[in-house]
Amino acid sequence: MYDHDLLVVGSANADLVIGVERRPAAGETVLGSDLAVHPGGKGANQAVAAARLGARTALLARVGDDAYGRLLLDSQRAAGVDTAGVLEGGAPTGVALITVDPSGDNSIVVSPGANGHLTPADVRAAAGLVRASRVVSAQLEIPLETVVEVVRSLAPGSRFVLNPSPPRPLPAEVLAACDPLIVNEHEAAVILGEERSGADPEDWARTLLARGPRSVVVTLGAQGALVASAEGVTRVPSVRVDAVDTTGAGDSFTAALAWRLGTGSSLAEAAAYAARVGAVAVTRRGAQESFPTADEVEALTG
Ligand code: ATP
Repeated sequence: MYDHDLLVVGSANADLVIGVERRPAAGETVLGSDLAVHPGGKGANQAVAAARLGARTALLARVGDDAYGRLLLDSQRAAGVDTAGVLEGGAPTGVALITVDPSGDNSIVVSPGANGHLTPADVRAAAGLVRASRVVSAQLEIPLETVVEVVRSLAPGSRFVLNPSPPRPLPAEVLAACDPLIVNEHEAAVILGEERSGADPEDWARTLLARGPRSVVVTLGAQGALVASAEGVTRVPSVRVDAVDTTGAGDSFTAALAWRLGTGSSLAEAAAYAARVGAVAVTRRGAQESFPTADEVEALTG
């Protein structure tokens, strides 16, 4: 019996957003809108997305002993996430400084802060939490060696899901544990090396699978997704919606897929459900604010 359906190991950031008429050039100062502060970071986003769907979810992350850290803890708890694994201190909470112009183009500076101090030793200290989770998911906004330690700590029979974002080459040990590896087209290109990536996402999926993961999912935005495993490559249809903001689509997709795999769905079924979750998320502004409940996913037509 597992205590959690899903453990997310990853980042937690405060997103500090200012709207500007024009993003500043070097040496320039521009005036912007009032500051908006949102809880974010791929790990925190995934945990909230899963909990909102009804998954028993825990987060293993590190925040600073500061006001942004408290904001992140509060937003996790409000969504029903178990935060016993959220460590405090070591550095200030991670922050993303975001300026957005009227056309929606943005410039972002990320200070990883405490995320960079989530260490393999922290994972070893949380071994009980890792082993009490049916599915464990991670991303790459924390040190790679920490993700390696997660892979080594998995309980036999549990499942590991990785969204390698931001992308970088992965050690064979991590690739071999992924079931699935979830990538968008950009991440696929970086992991394969630009020169090896072809224009056809089905080829990417097959080539990625040959690198060692047990399964691969390639997300294709409004075009849906592809799933690839030993049984072959299948297309997951997208749901047609009026998209207003795609922020967080990938995080909600990954969280939903990871949770459904743990409830016994096949990879294709889990991806189809995740595509519906991502489709709802893009119809609303923001990241965590846009993630649906299971009832809202159910109510989506198409
Ligand atoms: P991001 O980094 O912006 O969070 P991503 O690039 O990792 O996202 P996407 O492929 O953009 O991931 O989106 C994940 C999934 O969400 C898609 O596979 C699809 O199922 C769904 N989705 C995204 N955009 C749309 C859209 N415009 N219409 C319908 N579904 C969408």
